[in-house]
Amino acid sequence: MKSLLAYCERELAWAVETTEALVRLESPTPDKAAVDRCGEELARRLGDIGGRVQRFPRAAAGDHLLAEFGCGPRQVLVLGHLDTVWDVGTLSSRPLRHEDGLLYGPGVFDMKAGLALGMLALRALADSASPWPGRVTMLVTSDEETGSATSRSLIEDEALRSEAVLVLEPSLPGGALKTSRKGCGAFTVRVEGVAAHAGIEPEKGASAIHELARQILAIERLQDPGRGTTLSVGTVRGGTRANVIAAEAEAVVDVRVAESREAARITSAMLSLVTADPRTRLTVGGGVDRPPFERTPAVADLSRQAHALAAEIGVDLGEGSTGGGSDGNLTAAVGVPTLDGLGAVGGGAHAIDEHVRIADLPWRAALLAGLLRRILEI
Ligand SMILES: [Zn+2]
Repeated sequence: MKSLLAYCERELAWAVETTEALVRLESPTPDKAAVDRCGEELARRLGDIGGRVQRFPRAAAGDHLLAEFGCGPRQVLVLGHLDTVWDVGTLSSRPLRHEDGLLYGPGVFDMKAGLALGMLALRALADSASPWPGRVTMLVTSDEETGSATSRSLIEDEALRSEAVLVLEPSLPGGALKTSRKGCGAFTVRVEGVAAHAGIEPEKGASAIHELARQILAIERLQDPGRGTTLSVGTVRGGTRANVIAAEAEAVVDVRVAESREAARITSAMLSLVTADPRTRLTVGGGVDRPPFERTPAVADLSRQAHALAAEIGVDLGEGSTGGGSDGNLTAAVGVPTLDGLGAVGGGAHAIDEHVRIADLPWRAALLAGLLRRILEI
């Protein structure tokens, strides 16, 4: 581990330059042209460090990239994403900035610095005195921030070919790994009512809004915070004007679950909601699209290996869970041991103070390189 760390420390400037180059190419998920420009640059750089790069073209999203390194029957998947939540032009109001050892910029923490340190880890393995340990694939997708609709099968297939999946998402505060994540999804609840004049003949109307309000209370009762199950009605809309009994109303409900069986319970309860007023009609769509990432014994074992490697370079690595979902949910749910939060240390993901700690980049890269070697050599 010490020689991997020394290498990554010497190459810190390379990792910072790579991060900055990727941040400069802004890549919001819905802007295919912009995401592809960033992908083009990343593909070139993955090629430069010895990757055999394959593109998976998509019409409805940016293209996905898969880079292969080394060969052998055993494979580890390093998983990341190119897209960010920041529109093109954000950089002109919030340019890249170095301050007090932190690097600020849109998308730097989630997760362009993670991609750079993933690449530095691969360089460290390639340049080390030990032989290359096996086959590593780095999959970088373009639609993680919107739920991975066009990359899901690619991610699952690649995970199923792998011994383990190491995810370059941001770490928890201080560098702690993520070994469980809640599953998440959204339901749309639509009510059709009967319009009528609210003053002249209100009895002829059936308010979609009143019915939706009753449904929202029923939805709230499905929560079980003790098990980690929460539901939140994030948006409601409906009606046309104050003196018309509403003919239509709709709510979108965010769902978070820590256990698979809770995902099943919520899905079945949401799909069997019934109206209190029989003159209204209810339609429920959506579902839990990212299953929960649970801390199985195999995940705990991977985490123990990471802790032992970190200890070799003097780092006391933490571990925790998060309510936010990532593509690690998909790989864990197909049964492949997954460690998440192996990317940069920093803060402000999806927020205007998004930043990474530059001094932590080398040990993060060394840890990833050490883990790849450990898993492949077992
Ligand atoms: Zn992310």
